Amino acid sequence: MNFDDEDERFMSSMPIASDADNENKLRPKTMKDYVGQDKIKENLEIYIKAAVARGEALDHVLLYGPPGLGKTTLAHIIANEMGSQIRITSGPAIEKAADLAAILTNLGEGDVLFIDEIHRLNRNVEEVLYPAMEDFALDFIVGKGPTAKSLRIPLPKFTLIGATTKAGMLTGPLRDRFGVNCRLEMYTAEQLAQIVRRSASILGIELTDDGAIEIARRSRGTPRIANRILKRVRDFAEVKGEGVITYEVADHALGKMEIDKLGLDSVDRRLLTTMIDKFGGGPVGLDTLSAAVGEDSGTIEDVYEPYLMQITFVARTPRGRIVLPDAYEHLGLKVPQSAVKQMSILDVLETGDNGDK
Ligand code: ADP
Repeated sequence: MNFDDEDERFMSSMPIASDADNENKLRPKTMKDYVGQDKIKENLEIYIKAAVARGEALDHVLLYGPPGLGKTTLAHIIANEMGSQIRITSGPAIEKAADLAAILTNLGEGDVLFIDEIHRLNRNVEEVLYPAMEDFALDFIVGKGPTAKSLRIPLPKFTLIGATTKAGMLTGPLRDRFGVNCRLEMYTAEQLAQIVRRSASILGIELTDDGAIEIARRSRGTPRIANRILKRVRDFAEVKGEGVITYEVADHALGKMEIDKLGLDSVDRRLLTTMIDKFGGGPVGLDTLSAAVGEDSGTIEDVYEPYLMQITFVARTPRGRIVLPDAYEHLGLKVPQSAVKQMSILDVLETGDNGDK
């Protein structure tokens, strides 16, 4: 069995082919079923209630955070709670300004337009979006030269929900036009265990509490990965066990998949050991690292790094990526003084404590 296909890395937070039949079935449909992200949910619920009471469309919403954390799911839930239709597209799918104009003119009053990977919209398309978001209108220039006239076509009042893994790559004018900004956080093991239990009951999988927790702990804070692991561990439970996912079954299956206790796979370990062996633990630039491990730099940045940073294994500094003491300990290596020093500098930066007291 190949758990680590080049294009279809099992532990990737990006969707892979085998997720397709699951994702829609497992997507929660209401805020109540959407686990975690409490602050975001609380605020959105207020904004939604207020908009519904006023009979208006909800302000435009920007959702950002690593893949698999529930941005698309949340967009569906928002539309659902607004009682609106949702139209789904993505930045790279809208090639020309005319494509976007066609989508916008086909929206109904109060509809939600969801644009995934909104940071990948091209500039011409983005310019059509500005007046659409701000004034609910499309601007056209008709004719050429001195006789050219600008024409404005009104659009229905709609809500744009943009999703991105890279809020920093959004242009200022686009970012400014979102009234609501939500940064999704990685999930705790308890929250992921709740998601795993919910998914198991939908899929008719029997699972013990410690089985759920073990899957949760090894899912990189990401619901998409937790659901994927659940499905795979079920195969082990059916073939090797008695059909029930217990701690032992989960631990055995994850071991076979070479996913360690913290959810790291061979690619993560290669990334860390390369940084340590070839670059003395860093700082190392993203492009240099990407060439050394043979992985795309965008994938390193969006898919591997967020979790390694979350568990304080890696940090980004102005001079490049560095490996932190926790990573050395996890790999069973001696922690070098340089890593300890880096960590204390980061602590100072984080707490704003400059040691003058
Ligand atoms: P993103 O758009 O951020 O890449 P998705 O919304 O497609 O992520 O979520 C991936 C899968 O994870 C969904 O199919 C859903 O089943 C599950 N999921 C995501 N967030 C949650 C959540 N908060 N509660 C329960 N399940 C979730």
